[in-house]
Amino acid sequence: MANPLYDELFGVHSGKSTPFLHLPDGQILTHDAFLQSAARFAHTLTASGLAPGDRVAAQVEKSPEALALYAACVQAGLVFLPLNTAYTVDELTYFIENSGARMVVCDSTREDRLRPVTETLGAQLLTLDADGTGSLPEAARDQPTAFPTVARDADDLAAFLYTSGTTGRSKGAMLTQENLLSNARTLAEHWRFTGEDVLMNALPIFHTHGLFVATNVTLVAGGAMIFLPKFDIDTIIDKMPMATTMMGVPTFYTRLLDDDRFTGELVKDMRLFISGSAPLLSETHVRFEERTGHRILERYGMTETNMNTSNPYEGERRAGTVGFPLPGVELKVCDPETEQEVPQGDVGVIEVRGPNVFKGYWQMPEKTAEELRDNGFFITGDLGRIDGDGYVHIVGRDKDLIISGGYNIYPKEIELVLDEQPGVLESAVIGVPHADFGETVVGVLVAEPGAAPDVDAIAETVRDKLARFKHPRKLFVIDALPRNTMGKVQKNVLREQYKHLFV
Ligand code: ATP
Ligand code: MG
Repeated sequence: MANPLYDELFGVHSGKSTPFLHLPDGQILTHDAFLQSAARFAHTLTASGLAPGDRVAAQVEKSPEALALYAACVQAGLVFLPLNTAYTVDELTYFIENSGARMVVCDSTREDRLRPVTETLGAQLLTLDADGTGSLPEAARDQPTAFPTVARDADDLAAFLYTSGTTGRSKGAMLTQENLLSNARTLAEHWRFTGEDVLMNALPIFHTHGLFVATNVTLVAGGAMIFLPKFDIDTIIDKMPMATTMMGVPTFYTRLLDDDRFTGELVKDMRLFISGSAPLLSETHVRFEERTGHRILERYGMTETNMNTSNPYEGERRAGTVGFPLPGVELKVCDPETEQEVPQGDVGVIEVRGPNVFKGYWQMPEKTAEELRDNGFFITGDLGRIDGDGYVHIVGRDKDLIISGGYNIYPKEIELVLDEQPGVLESAVIGVPHADFGETVVGVLVAEPGAAPDVDAIAETVRDKLARFKHPRKLFVIDALPRNTMGKVQKNVLREQYKHLFV
């Protein structure tokens, strides 16, 4: 009997005493020890009456046990549903109800408040704390260390992942075994991962980046991870010499660059730094190379599709681009109105098709039909263009597109100009309602530490550089852009804040 995802990611490592997780306290968890704890969890879950296809929702801190819960679900044919640790009990209630989860695993601090919810919804509740204790590990302690893997097909659901909710309410993306496995194989090969690799992973594991990209790639290649519960600069600097590779969101890289201990010498044995989940500023790319001699490899993906494009491993890693479509992934840039491909170099909506693309949104047939075409192409909602050399550029999201007086305005074009201005660290450009124009442009700036950008001078420069209809009608300086846990700028929050400026 076969379970492709389990067999290829986990089963192959059975009995191996090779390191899998390097923990913050210096302890090492071997592949075999990890698989044994996963098998115990699998027994516990099935003993509580769960059957293949049932959803297991987990809102737990990042720990080796939390990762073993993922492996246990795959082995037992259960659908793993990790949830952002920042969600409140009210938000959790929505996800538990919406997903129909039959088991909820939470931190013990949440247990009392979640108990009435799970009772009402007919789900079971177990706890797992950051230190690896709780009622789940307690129940698992005396279970056997081997579990008969449940057979699954490539097309069976393996995970259920909610999108980050940057543009609206999170949607549950149904991901099959094949979606995850095909992407893990492709990425491991594309980025040359081997059993010798040690990946610095300080990302959350409730999101595709830390879980499916980082973890699955490591597992498929047979390497190890430095498995850190969060981005703690001291620990990262301390452990960096052990690592060969790192995956991070752009803010990880800017925070490293802000620390003088982060030098070329510290990362002399590193092979590869990868960035994704949000745009990496060209400035960060350049500063990183100046400091370390490494060019960060930027890639692009999303919850629904896993990874779609990547800059090359060998060949030019071009700042401000997300590289080329990955092997097996088809990508086109289309006009949302006509649904036809736009002329080469023009901006349009990115569509992707491949074994990586999800099955649809959970219990949202209309939304699924709107975004997933019959021919298999998924309409990503990201705006992009392909340059003359084939590199894909992400220009923003279609929901962030500003339409003012009939003109389409891409915020990124204005942001790139604003970012270059003296004293400006970063910027966000949004459209706000305007009585005459429908929408008009507002720019929000964040100052570099200690700087006070001259808003009038910046407005003047913008007037020289950009067509009149693109000029921000107002520029504001704020302390920090609103971001969610994955470092994504929440433009909807800004739009809400400035919506009454002109109406
Ligand atoms: P929601 O769909 O709920 O609004 P979300 O799209 O932010 O949330 P995710 O699936 O976590 O949720 O994020 C995918 C999005 O992240 C992509 O559609 C894209 O907009 C952005 N993204 C990912 N990688 C990059 C990158 N390298 N450069 C620019 N944007 C990126
Ligand atoms: Mg999205």
